[in-house]
Amino acid sequence: MNANDLLTVHFPRLRAGQKSALDKLGIATIRDLLYHFPTRYENAGPTGTISGVSHGDDVTLYGTIRNPKTRKAWKSRRPIAEALLEDSSDTIKMMWFNQPYIVKSLHDGMLVKVTGRVAGNDAKIYLANPEINRTPVRAEDVHDNLFANATEKSEQTLYPVYQESKGISSLWMYHAVKKCIASGVHEQIVDAIPKKILTRYHLPKLATSLIWIHMPRTLKDSASARKRFSFEEVFTIQLMMARRRQTKACQKALPVTVDREALASFVSSFPFKPTRAQARAINTIVDDFEKPRPMMRLLEGDVGSGKTAIAAATSYLVATSRPPERKSGTLQVAYLCPTEILAKQHFETFIAFFKDHPIQIGLITGSGCRKFPSKISREKSTHISRAQFQKWVANGEIPIVIGTHSLVQKSLSFKTLAYAIIDEQHRFGKVHRQELARKDGLTPHLLSMTATPIPRTLALTIYGDLDLTLVDQMPLGRKPVITKVLGPEKREEAYARVRKELEKGRQAYVICPRIDEPDPNKELSLQAKSVKAEAVRLEKYVFKNTSIGILHGKMKPAEKEESMKKFENGETQILVATSVVEVGVNVPNATVMLIEGAERFGLAQLHQLRGRVIRSSNQAYCFVLPESYGPTTRERLSALTKAKNGFELAEYDLSIRGSGELYGKRQWGISDVAMEALRNIKLVEAARTEADALIEKDPGLSKHSALASLAHSRESDLHGE
Ligand code: ADP
Ligand code: MG
Repeated sequence: MNANDLLTVHFPRLRAGQKSALDKLGIATIRDLLYHFPTRYENAGPTGTISGVSHGDDVTLYGTIRNPKTRKAWKSRRPIAEALLEDSSDTIKMMWFNQPYIVKSLHDGMLVKVTGRVAGNDAKIYLANPEINRTPVRAEDVHDNLFANATEKSEQTLYPVYQESKGISSLWMYHAVKKCIASGVHEQIVDAIPKKILTRYHLPKLATSLIWIHMPRTLKDSASARKRFSFEEVFTIQLMMARRRQTKACQKALPVTVDREALASFVSSFPFKPTRAQARAINTIVDDFEKPRPMMRLLEGDVGSGKTAIAAATSYLVATSRPPERKSGTLQVAYLCPTEILAKQHFETFIAFFKDHPIQIGLITGSGCRKFPSKISREKSTHISRAQFQKWVANGEIPIVIGTHSLVQKSLSFKTLAYAIIDEQHRFGKVHRQELARKDGLTPHLLSMTATPIPRTLALTIYGDLDLTLVDQMPLGRKPVITKVLGPEKREEAYARVRKELEKGRQAYVICPRIDEPDPNKELSLQAKSVKAEAVRLEKYVFKNTSIGILHGKMKPAEKEESMKKFENGETQILVATSVVEVGVNVPNATVMLIEGAERFGLAQLHQLRGRVIRSSNQAYCFVLPESYGPTTRERLSALTKAKNGFELAEYDLSIRGSGELYGKRQWGISDVAMEALRNIKLVEAARTEADALIEKDPGLSKHSALASLAHSRESDLHGE
């Protein structure tokens, strides 16, 4: 066996379903398999009895399979597999939707461990799509254990539990890994981390770590293996960052003329007085403008903390600076936004900020280009052709250009781009700031803005090459949103509040997890609420004689714009939307939000959504309505009612989530194991120090080829740049 061999070479009997499951998990080679770590370990032992479960719980049960069979769903005629699970306390029904083959792997009397969520209602509960594992213990043990003292740990070996995935069971994964390790292949993989570093931080070597992480004898062994792998990942990322910092030190910026008096007078024309945090951020950026190296700064501020004004104030300086050695024209600003809605909104906001200044502002999106001011009317913007727009940007006539992705396309070139602003930059995934770089060797100053509060350790890691500025203060008079997590029976309380707010002339959001396409893995009754269906239901039964609009990602740009406009000018009272409104949408008159299926969103995302209703000094409300109301969900969501700001929430999220739920991969391109490391600031700092030292000595990593290739593969994984 060779680590780089394709898995299929050594596991020739893989079924198509298994192959596609492995594909989805990104496992192609033996090495990939060994680097696919369990999310947790379990000793076989008692975890609960059937009589003790209730609706909404996440449970692990041991018992005996009874009467497995398939049938067709009554209405949809879709296949349903079902069986009973029996233990000494009771029986419970299990159902699998669209997975009739499950029955083939079950037989009456089979002893299993079952993990899943209790669905249904209190009158009739069942387990929906539970995961089944043959238990590694004998029948007598299970039944004895069920009555044993729950705190008494048996001397059982630890069993790894891998990420659940349709087609591949945890048990299959376990046996596959065991086979690989038995062949000794894990000893052939080169340990990329230098020995000295391993010794310094008491980290086990690679071969040992691979055994300890998949089949540990003790939890201590697995913990030390996990620590090693998290160090490996964070260290690799830090190496990349160290290299980028080095490159940056050689770059040159365009000098921006800093006229502090003019800036102060511009800022004093704002309709509000900047908060201290805003003023501080503006000053920091202005200081950066005076340095010969390009700024690379991350501006992190809670939703509603007023980042747009910071962007506008600093853009003013750039748009009034003369390019070096030129008698006319100005430097240019590019303001990149993740959605068309947001780009348009910022365009309008900028027009308001700049209306008394002779500075042209452009807007470019997939659906067209606009320019302010219009030739005919000084107060208005006007539509212009793309070709004309490109010409005016290329010759420098439009100093401030706001737009979506169209802004970074090759066809749009700037004459003197000196300042690039990226709004809600976490939404861009892999947008490379290089795309905004100029071709003449001068690098624009970069301001990345985000409202996603991320823990400091994570910021140090994924944004390790950026300087960090926090906007840690809200505009005066903002009251915290009154947030309530409501169980299904309390839904009416939320509706009552919505009615009250509407009576006052205010507006409301209702957020749903889906648009309307059914999820093929779920029976209809288990589907999350959808925007389209919910809008109809609300109009018909809950809020009669109310104007209700919808907004979701599959609408055409013109439809979206229309819908947004109607909500902005108050024509629509309730906007039923997906999380597209998460990003920066600003309608100050909206003071109440309902979030359906709330457990499907991360805490940080819920916080972002909630941010849509702290846009004014009116008291705002947010009702969080999960579909299932088990203790874990309740506890996690209740953090929303306790945390004072997004940063607290982010730290909390990091601390309570178990591994396997850290969503790091999806959101940041960071594995769960590394996310665990981010709970430990010392480890992150150590990785950074070591990376700096190594890059200083061996900038090209020529003496560390294994590390170089790790770093190279990371480069393409990491999001959030
Ligand atoms: P975010 O940081 O989420 O991007 P915005 O820039 O959209 O926040 O600002 C949110 C709202 O607060 C806007 O309506 C803006 O006009 C207003 N605002 C910004 N700064 C202040 C301030 N210092 N005082 C009062 N209102 C402010
Ligand atoms: Mg914003």
